[in-house]
Amino acid sequence: MGIQAVSAGRFLWRTTSDASYLEPAELQNAPPLRCAFTTRHAGTSGRALNLSVDLGQRAEVLADRQRVLYALGLAQKTLYTVRQVHGNHVCVVDAPVVQHGLHGVEADALVTALPGVPLGVLVADCLPIMLYTSQPPVVAVVHAGRMGTYHQVVRKTLETMQSRFAVMPEQVHAVMGPAIGACCYTLDMHAVGPFQECFIDWQQYFIPRSAGLWTMDLIAANTAQLQTAGVPPRHIQAAHICTVCYNQHFYSHRAEGREAGRGMGIVALCPTSSVGE
Ligand SMILES: [Zn+2]
Repeated sequence: MGIQAVSAGRFLWRTTSDASYLEPAELQNAPPLRCAFTTRHAGTSGRALNLSVDLGQRAEVLADRQRVLYALGLAQKTLYTVRQVHGNHVCVVDAPVVQHGLHGVEADALVTALPGVPLGVLVADCLPIMLYTSQPPVVAVVHAGRMGTYHQVVRKTLETMQSRFAVMPEQVHAVMGPAIGACCYTLDMHAVGPFQECFIDWQQYFIPRSAGLWTMDLIAANTAQLQTAGVPPRHIQAAHICTVCYNQHFYSHRAEGREAGRGMGIVALCPTSSVGE
């Protein structure tokens, strides 16, 4: 089955001359925001689309990031990213940050209420989660791999949205992009043990496979955290596209090792005429 068929319905497969990405179908006309989960393809150009400066020529990668922003109607905007460390720190991109920039900030989620300010997290198997509310307009993007999930980075992001922007979890919508699936994410006791100790519901998202081995369902684990925090189930959707099974379209650390490029989950409130450059 082709990727277009897999993602049909709730996600649109967009291809421009410079970028190929998935866009949640519900967002194409509706709330004033942009969201994309990039693939490994630089659109019809035939080039690869790696968005990590650690894994490519810096100037090329920065140019590719701008090409993706252009495709999203965010041309000439500054893309905000952080040093991702598989933790649960949340970076709020507010007016002082826009003024001074982000320099070496370690975090695994970004939040903003500013229009025209794109936020991005890099992924190659880890789960990118986009959170948004329309009233008030607030967006966030979260990097949730195994350890980020263990540290409950998505719950921490919801708490930050509430404390800084008075957004209640009941208002929040969540969209989860492509990530390594429960079909492929095999882990041993070393990885699973900490979850057994800290999460009473761990068996909901670790599936026993053979003696001492489980597979982890990142979507199920993060769905549980979202729902426990108060996000309504009807507000939560996921692409359910495995980056290992569909490695021809998405970067995968498991499938390719250390040299794997990185895709990106990107979200932004649409620019307005009154705010921005
Ligand atoms: Zn798979």
